Amino acid sequence: MSMEDLRKDFPILQEKVYGRPLVYFDNAATTQKPQCVLDKIMTGYTKYNANIHRGVHYLSQLATEAHESARQVVADFIGALDRTNIVFTRGTTEAINLIAFSFGEQFVGEGDEVLITTMEHHSNIVPWQMLCGRKKAVLRVVPVLENGELDMDAYRHLLSDKTKIVSVAHVSNVLGTVNPVRDIIRLAHEKKVPVLVDGAQSVPHMPVNVRDIDADFYVFSGHKIYGPTGVGVLYGKKEWLEVIPPYQGGGEMIANVTFERTTYNELPYKFEAGTPDYIGSTALAEALRYVGQIGMDKIEAHEQSLIQYATARLKEIEGMRIIGEAGQKSGVVSFLVGKIHPYDLGMLLDKMGIAVRTGHHCAQPLIDYYGIPGTVRMSFGLYNTEAEIDMFMQAMKRVVPMLN
Ligand code: PMP
Repeated sequence: MSMEDLRKDFPILQEKVYGRPLVYFDNAATTQKPQCVLDKIMTGYTKYNANIHRGVHYLSQLATEAHESARQVVADFIGALDRTNIVFTRGTTEAINLIAFSFGEQFVGEGDEVLITTMEHHSNIVPWQMLCGRKKAVLRVVPVLENGELDMDAYRHLLSDKTKIVSVAHVSNVLGTVNPVRDIIRLAHEKKVPVLVDGAQSVPHMPVNVRDIDADFYVFSGHKIYGPTGVGVLYGKKEWLEVIPPYQGGGEMIANVTFERTTYNELPYKFEAGTPDYIGSTALAEALRYVGQIGMDKIEAHEQSLIQYATARLKEIEGMRIIGEAGQKSGVVSFLVGKIHPYDLGMLLDKMGIAVRTGHHCAQPLIDYYGIPGTVRMSFGLYNTEAEIDMFMQAMKRVVPMLN
């Protein structure tokens, strides 16, 4: 399919902002939706809307089937053993909170350690901090090197008998660094420590196989992979999901309830209290089918060439400082120009129809480590083009002199 045809799949890309064509470089925050995903949401509500798992009636059975086959699509997409490894959540954030709570309840106690890294999103910091506060455990942090790669020597030293879990981003949403999760997991497993991988910024940009990297938990958000907001995924190995307690109580997660005692439902329902977003799950499955048809390897290659092109062109600008120059990058390019505040640059680019993100990107400790006010972040999706990077560069060459 030509890029022109592919872009037509995304209605919002035809919109104008301030009378100009939209250049959308904020895909790390959220992606735009293809028509097939929008249609799926509409079909859900117009053809089979009924609460799932509860009704004997026709519509409820259709909805249940749709939700459960969506679970299978997700399982296949990330290479899970089967659908019972897949828990639907509201997103990456909820999935991490679920593990921080449920794993933490069972396995983390006073003096134990939780290991994260400097480059984590707040979603992969705060839930662990809350757990450590509750349990009097200690949060340890693997430092980042100046070029944006993880300090793997420090990681080896920080992994200890006290470490109960490691939680790490597969790809940094600020630096674009692709972390060596396979090595991180292998080293942790040598000490029998499980690893949660935050895949929010990897699943949309590269083929991911959770069993190949041997992740214990892997989480991502639907809205960052061309699916709807409000639905995300927790993958977990059964050996862990079976032994940790539920996160929330309510309908659907139970086997039997009396006032004295409740027994819990089988996997994955034990972790899905209340009515799940079954319209969202089916629309997410549609998004996965969509990217699967294009091919994650093709998407990866296309976005890699955009990163290389953007990085080379950015360097034409005097005072350019790329934040994050790891050997392996994905999805994003972050930068600063001279002493220009990222917010001012972002505001002027916006007036020219270019959507970038500015600020700390929900990773304040990382921004503090670099001692900078934040960054301007371009982040790419499958529909972005070199021509858009050229438009962005034209805009940069107008606005940078205005701000200098
Ligand atoms: N982790 C990373 C690396 C992210 O980039 C994001 C979103 N910016 C999140 C977690 C949180 O995702 P969500 O808000 O969809 O839960």
